[in-house]
Amino acid sequence: MSHDSVLTSATTSARVFRAEKGTLYVLATPLGNLRDITLRALDILSSADLILAEDTRVSAKLLTHYGIKAPLRALHEHNERKSAATVIGLLQQNHSIALISDAGTPAVSDPGARLVAAVREAAQPVVPIPGPCALIAAISAAGLNAEHFYFAGFLPVPAKARRAQLEKLSETLRALNAALVLYEAPHRIRHTLGDLMKAFQEPRDLIIARELTKTFETIRRIPLADAMTWLDAHPDTERGELVLIVDTPAPGQQNTAPRDTRADDAMLNRWLPALLEELPPARAARVAALATGLPRGAIYDRIKEKRT
Ligand code: SAM
Repeated sequence: MSHDSVLTSATTSARVFRAEKGTLYVLATPLGNLRDITLRALDILSSADLILAEDTRVSAKLLTHYGIKAPLRALHEHNERKSAATVIGLLQQNHSIALISDAGTPAVSDPGARLVAAVREAAQPVVPIPGPCALIAAISAAGLNAEHFYFAGFLPVPAKARRAQLEKLSETLRALNAALVLYEAPHRIRHTLGDLMKAFQEPRDLIIARELTKTFETIRRIPLADAMTWLDAHPDTERGELVLIVDTPAPGQQNTAPRDTRADDAMLNRWLPALLEELPPARAARVAALATGLPRGAIYDRIKEKRT
């Protein structure tokens, strides 16, 4: 880069931006650390005629922190379609509007996509103001083996639908040799880890990225097969916000054939009842894991499931 172009880009980036009339800005806000907001985002928020927020109480904290006084109105998932007509009306009257969510980038597992589609359909400009996004932060610090990833957002909550979805995802991602990235609520992590262990039985690592950008940020890489044991030893993981990543197998393990799950099932069906007659569940799971090579956590889960 020549000296001139350095100066030009420095001058450009020092310019204060003003929100343009009739434009909808889709603007990323911090995931937790209030300093994680771009200068352009602050310029736009300070000059917009209206800010649409998921939860006005959450966003008021950010705006107060930066002394921003623009009017704030709620845009929830359930009123998104209805609000679109009002928002388009305001844009057509030359108002500038910023759309934000509670944390990160709107429309990424958050409201926004429907409103954006309607505004684009009405031929009003839509401008992204990029910034924090939990999945991108997690990916950037995970040191993935995978060159590609698939972001599946939140899995379905009902157990049957979640397992069916993971079954499909694991097959597709094996074929694509891609990592899986998920958002998950902390109180559901135990179930989700159990299901991930069943869906991916070949050796893979799990990355748990928790409380990103916050005081208790932790990013851990563990073998997926040890996930349940790890969770038992780190109960804090069941609190706070989480991104889960199932990486592709490490180089050299890429051709490991997936286990024959029907044969595993048959073996466990044959042996577990007998073991459970003689041993408490945790010991029965340990013995079955030694005998079959299956993850102990997954066997223990199966015992618990059969008992509930
Ligand atoms: N739009 C947001 C984004 O750009 O990442 C995501 C919103 S979604 C409703 C909330 C989920 O994002 C949480 O359940 C968690 O999975 C993830 N998440 C948000 N903030 C996080 C953080 N600080 N650390 C880890 N995960 C986070």
